[in-house]
Amino acid sequence: MTAEEEAARAAAIEKARRIFAGPITFLKSAPALEFLPDATVPEIAFAGRSNVGKSSLLNALTGRTSLARTSVTPGRTQELNYFDVGNPLFFRLVDMPGYGFAKAPKDMVRRWRYLVNDFLRGRPVLKRALVLIDSRHGIKDVDTEMLDMLDKAAVSYRIVLTKADKVKATDLAAVLARTEAEARKRPAAHPEIIPTSSEKGMGIPELRAAVIEAVTA
Ligand code: GDP
Repeated sequence: MTAEEEAARAAAIEKARRIFAGPITFLKSAPALEFLPDATVPEIAFAGRSNVGKSSLLNALTGRTSLARTSVTPGRTQELNYFDVGNPLFFRLVDMPGYGFAKAPKDMVRRWRYLVNDFLRGRPVLKRALVLIDSRHGIKDVDTEMLDMLDKAAVSYRIVLTKADKVKATDLAAVLARTEAEARKRPAAHPEIIPTSSEKGMGIPELRAAVIEAVTA
């Protein structure tokens, strides 16, 4: 990186930090598309297998302890949770329903698929999705379905590794390389992956900057 690029990167990180330190409020839970808010501002969506660390990451990102709540019961997760960022409103974060519950009934999986597919295909203000992948496991079959849906809907997305503190540095480097190789094969995927740890704060400033970059792109 040149000194100029380094300075631009530092400025982007500081700008993102300020935005996320400002007002962020829960707007609503939308169980179906007719309940979505008016599409007036850009939206950035977060997707991931249940237990991947999505709530923890949203809380770390926004510097709040209980903005996003962990969904313990599978039945309660079939909703798109909306958060307003900025006052005046600048953009929205969308917490997508988790997937990959081992014991999920078939009709629940089907409902998830319809809701997510309709959302991805019918939301022009959706600027980017961030797909969370556990650093310990890498991309699993349940994630592949999500990535395929994004590629088919032509929604730009970026993979974020979670719980990076749970693996050794060498294993993190290996999963990062494998995931990057997979991302390069996918048409709508950003080629660079962001490793994060909500627990340690690792990658959080970079993720904030990536969100703002997507909002303003
Ligand atoms: P969600 O179901 O995707 O919203 O996942 P949660 O955010 O509720 O996290 C699932 C579990 O993983 C919880 O027990 C968290 O404490 C844990 N967890 C989440 N993020 C991290 C992390 O960065 N590091 C570690 N060590 N644990 C994490």
